[in-house]
Amino acid sequence: MKLKERISKKVSDSGFNTFMSFPKKNLLIEVTNYCNNRCIFCYNDCMKRERKFIDKDLCYRVLSDAYQLGMREVGFYVTGEPLLDKRLKDFIKRAKLIGYEYIYITTNGILANLSRVKELYEAGLNSIKYSINASNEKDYLMIHGTDNFTRVVNNLEEVYNWKTSNNINLKVYVSYIMIDATNKKSEIDKLFKNKCDEYVVMSAINQGGLIPSICEISHEKGINSFKLPCSYPFKSVVVTCEGYLTGCCMDFENLLAYADLSKEKLEDAWNNSIIRELRKRQLEGNVNGTICSNCIYNSLEIPNEINTKLCKLKNKNNIFCKDLDRIRRSNESY
Ligand code: SF4
Repeated sequence: MKLKERISKKVSDSGFNTFMSFPKKNLLIEVTNYCNNRCIFCYNDCMKRERKFIDKDLCYRVLSDAYQLGMREVGFYVTGEPLLDKRLKDFIKRAKLIGYEYIYITTNGILANLSRVKELYEAGLNSIKYSINASNEKDYLMIHGTDNFTRVVNNLEEVYNWKTSNNINLKVYVSYIMIDATNKKSEIDKLFKNKCDEYVVMSAINQGGLIPSICEISHEKGINSFKLPCSYPFKSVVVTCEGYLTGCCMDFENLLAYADLSKEKLEDAWNNSIIRELRKRQLEGNVNGTICSNCIYNSLEIPNEINTKLCKLKNKNNIFCKDLDRIRRSNESY
């Protein structure tokens, strides 16, 4: 399946119910929530959640339990940069040994040089997606907040040349999250057309309602393409670096975390009463007071967590990332 189809299928799936059978796809494991970039459209830089790496044994257990329940694909990334974790190759190797058919990562590419990618490929990686959201050095600095454009593009090119000239069975993709200032189609086409198997361009969105201001500079001024019911709480198995199950891969503050997998079995947690209640509310179109409401309607309500034991956010009054000044400053110097 092409990258574009995989992405659109994720948000448009149907067959929703409060009680869901365990999916075969969409297991995402957050090996870490640390990141070495500060992307303007990403909440990571504003995140108040403690930074950490996932416990190795818990990760292995989740991989094994999910496979037993029928899962066949796994992605090792959620909110952070997975290559910051030196154990990534071990996680991939374990997933391959268990029997996973498709193992993938998304990376900002800073550390995804040829030798590291070779190592991950040998461990069992099937696809790598570089998240490169600018088509020149100046835009890259403004968007990513770091000066790594040349390094990242060189890494991509080197990996793609290696894979094509050696007939390596690894898909190399690029995703480009666009704001108005970086909507440069011909530059983007020119940059990526001979450096990857496929690239997709998507508009920046409000990150689960946590960066409402992003819509002022992107995505037709505030129109969010997510609709209720949103497929994530029904079809995605997202495991945070604390070992929690959460309803959404954009849940940076564990506001949709619903089970602690160190205390609850994955099989039971997947349909526990808390997530079934969220699914019910999604089906009824009544998500007031959750981040889903802010996400869908781009509103500014202070959201409640769905499991008070798992969200450690003390003060929700400053939950929204108001870094628009950084965007404005950057745009002014354009
Ligand atoms: S915040 Fe809620 S509505 Fe938005 S993408 Fe996540 S699960 Fe879907």
